[in-house]
Amino acid sequence: MRLSRGFLPTLKENPAEAQIASHRLMLRAGLIRQTAAGIYAWLPAGLRVLRNIAQIVREEQDAIGAQEVLMPTLQPAELWRRSGRYEAYGPEMLRLTDRHERDLLYGPTNEEMITDLFGQSVRSYRELPQVLYQIHWKFRDEVRPRFGVMRGREFLMKDAYSFDTDPEAAVATYRRMLLAYLRTFQRLGVAAIPMVADAGPIGGNHSHEFIILAPTGESGVFYDGGLEEQDWLSSEIDLADREALAGFFTRVTSLYAATDEKHDEAAWAEVPADRRREGRGIEVGHIFYFGTKYTESMGISVSGADGAPFHPEMGSYGIGVSRLAGAIIEASHDEAGIIWPDAVAPYKAAILNLKPGDAGCDALCERLYGASPDALLLDDRSERAGVKFNDADLMGHPWQVIVGPRGAAAGRVELKRRATGERVELSPEEALERIG
Ligand code: ATP
Ligand code: MG
Ligand code: MG
Ligand code: MG
Repeated sequence: MRLSRGFLPTLKENPAEAQIASHRLMLRAGLIRQTAAGIYAWLPAGLRVLRNIAQIVREEQDAIGAQEVLMPTLQPAELWRRSGRYEAYGPEMLRLTDRHERDLLYGPTNEEMITDLFGQSVRSYRELPQVLYQIHWKFRDEVRPRFGVMRGREFLMKDAYSFDTDPEAAVATYRRMLLAYLRTFQRLGVAAIPMVADAGPIGGNHSHEFIILAPTGESGVFYDGGLEEQDWLSSEIDLADREALAGFFTRVTSLYAATDEKHDEAAWAEVPADRRREGRGIEVGHIFYFGTKYTESMGISVSGADGAPFHPEMGSYGIGVSRLAGAIIEASHDEAGIIWPDAVAPYKAAILNLKPGDAGCDALCERLYGASPDALLLDDRSERAGVKFNDADLMGHPWQVIVGPRGAAAGRVELKRRATGERVELSPEEALERIG
C-alpha cells in the first residue's frame, strides 16, 4: 500500500473518549472508527489485523478437524423459546420484529441454532463426533460498552460447537480444543493463560477461560509462570490418542492458574514464589463442556449402536477475535505506539522514503516496495521525516526500512526493529531478507 493513496487516517492527538492505551492507539493508528456506542467500522489496516487473527484461529480449528460453517446473524426467537433461553437471556439480547410480526434476535451466541442444524441432518452415532465453527459477528447489548473493541456491542467471535456420543468422547474433544487454543494464542504472539472457570451444572474442570495479563483487565488473575514457558507448537500430541490427550491435560492443569472467582489461597501458597504471577487479565477465549443441556431441551437425539436414541454431548468454544486486536495491543505497545507481533501486523514493514522527489530515494523505495507490494507499506508522502518516523512507530509495523538520500546513493538502507529499537545498516536485499 502506498501511504499517499491509502485510507489510513492517523490522529496526532489522543481522542478524549478513549480511556485505555489499546483504544487510543486503535483510533490514532487509523484501525477503527466508532459508528455508534460499542459499534465499530474496521478501516483497511484494522481489517488486515482482524483477518490475520481470524486466519490463525481458522487454521488451528481446521487442524483439529473442526469444519467451518457460516450461520446467519439474525435468528428466529422460536429457536430460543425451545431451549428456554429466550426469556432467560435478558437485556443483553437485541430483539427485533419483522414486517410479519415475527420475533427475531441478533445472535449473542449460537448454541440453539447449531443444535437445530445438527438435529435436522444427523441421524446416527456413526456420524459423530462433529465439530463445527464459524467466525462471525455477534451482538450483545452490553450495559457499559467500553475500551473500544474490547467490550463492544457488535463483535467478531470464533464460536465452535461439538457433538459427541458419550462424556469420555466429549472430554477428549474438549482437550483437543484446549490444545488448539494454546497453539492459536502462541502463534498470535500472546501469553493467554488457561484458567479454570465455573463449569456450571456439569461441574469438574471442564470450563477454561484464556486470559491475557494486562493492568486494564477486568478479572484478577493468579497463575504459575511455568505456564508461559510451554511450547505447544512443537509438542507432538496424537489427537486420536485419549491417553496422550489426558497426559497433555494434566501437563496444563497441574500448574496453578485461577481468576479471583476461583482463587484458592492454599494451592497458591504451594507455587514457588519466583513463579507466582498475579495481576489483572482480559478474557480472550472461553471453552465449555456442558453435556446434553441443549440436545435435551431442544429434543435432539440420534440413534446409538444399540438402536436406542440418545442425546449427544455438547461443548462450545469461543474466541473473541475482535477483542484480541485490542488485547494484543494492550499487551504490546509503548509510549510511541503499537508494537505488532509479526503474525498479526497489518504490514510486515513500512518503507520510509525520507526524501520523495530525490531520484535515488524514489528508485530504491520503488525497488523495495515492488518486492511485495501487498505486504509492505510505502510511506511516499511529502511529509517531514519526523512525521514519518512517528507514524511508523504509532502504527507499529514490526520493521521500518529507512531510505535517505545519502544511503540511497551508496545503496544502503537502515533497518529498524520496532520492538527493540535496534537499527542496522545493510543492503536493500539484506533488508528484504530479514523482513522475510
Ligand atoms: P465477558 O466476561 O468479557 O463479558 P463473556 O464471558 O460474556 O465475556 P463468552 O460468552 O465466554 O463471553 O464469549 C466468548 C468470547 O467472546 C469471550 O471470551 C470474549 O473474548 C469475547 N467477547 C464476549 N463479549 C464481548 C464483547 N462485548 N466485546 C468483544 N468481545 C467479547
Ligand atoms: Mg459477557
Ligand atoms: Mg466472562
Ligand atoms: Mg466467558
